[in-house]
Amino acid sequence: MPGMKLLICPTPDCSGLLYLEDLRCDTCGAEVAYHTLSETMVAVTGPDIEVANRLWHPCVNRDRDCNWLAADDSSTDQCFSCRLTRVRPNDNDPDALERLAEAEKSKRRVLVQLNSLGLPIDPYFESDGGLGFDLLSSEYEKVTIGQANGIVTIDLAETLDAHRERLRVALGEPYRTMLGHFRHEIGHYYEWVLVEQTDKIEQCRQIFGDERASYTDAIDQHYSNGAPPNWRDSYISEYATMHPWEDFAECFAHYLHITDTLDTAASAGMELVPGRSVVPALPLAVGPRDSYGADDFDALMDDWHWISLFFNRVNRSMGKADLYPFSISDPVVDKLRFIHGVLTDLPRTRVSELDGFGRSIDSQDTAG
Ligand SMILES: [Zn+2]
Ligand SMILES: [Zn+2]
Repeated sequence: MPGMKLLICPTPDCSGLLYLEDLRCDTCGAEVAYHTLSETMVAVTGPDIEVANRLWHPCVNRDRDCNWLAADDSSTDQCFSCRLTRVRPNDNDPDALERLAEAEKSKRRVLVQLNSLGLPIDPYFESDGGLGFDLLSSEYEKVTIGQANGIVTIDLAETLDAHRERLRVALGEPYRTMLGHFRHEIGHYYEWVLVEQTDKIEQCRQIFGDERASYTDAIDQHYSNGAPPNWRDSYISEYATMHPWEDFAECFAHYLHITDTLDTAASAGMELVPGRSVVPALPLAVGPRDSYGADDFDALMDDWHWISLFFNRVNRSMGKADLYPFSISDPVVDKLRFIHGVLTDLPRTRVSELDGFGRSIDSQDTAG
């Protein structure tokens, strides 16, 4: 279960650092693309690119900033991520397509992380109830962000800073991002797949409450009365108080926030060293790991305590809001521990040679 790798420019003698979203290397100017199977950046040398004895081509949506590759023998010109988008804006609406390109970046980042955590991704086009995305803009139609039967709906208008920030302030949220929306909605999907359809549901109910409680009543109650004043004692956010489903999805998103940030710190070789720090309580040394096994949950929480504290201070040095503007109470620790248990006890998967993503063994069987 390796973490998200640091990406390096494939040009010999360049070795510039690349971001996951990059289409070209800032250091040497080379055109690059992300190869999901090897989790590396490769050079785009032409329409056909050989990686690991197979031909690949840049995703047909490269002109919309998609930097992934698609296998030459797959049935479509689109990469795995773009194929997962079931509904997208009209091809002749440039504004909406610009928002789409932005949202797809967040989606690809989440997919890479889900894969690095070993989560199965059964696409909607391969199995009933599989994962898919409807990416629509509330500028043109009513869009309700949510997840149902594997399909995640996202409002592309939330890529617009002014729109998203207005909602964040109106809802009193300390954090609102496109990446956060994807992580939250994906949390609903995995609760459905990995908890509600398994024997983990009883323990889940004990920790998060009974998800069979009326969701409509919960919405009415939440939007008329708001969160209880003492919500911080047992919830990660006000929204999490609404219904057990929302509590799970919020905690799942936080689990992804935490592990991705720790992965990034780990892959950069970051370590907090007591001898070089004036913080008296800093333990022997804090070096985040690039992954945390079944028994490592307490280490994960300890590392996060120190790393998030320091990243918050870094942000404040730049006059920015805290990187992690949340505090994790003991009951929330138990919720995150449950999610860690679910994600370190995953069903076996089969990895596709065409896209590098895991599929449930069951879905392979039913797909014949
Ligand atoms: Zn380079
Ligand atoms: Zn693509």
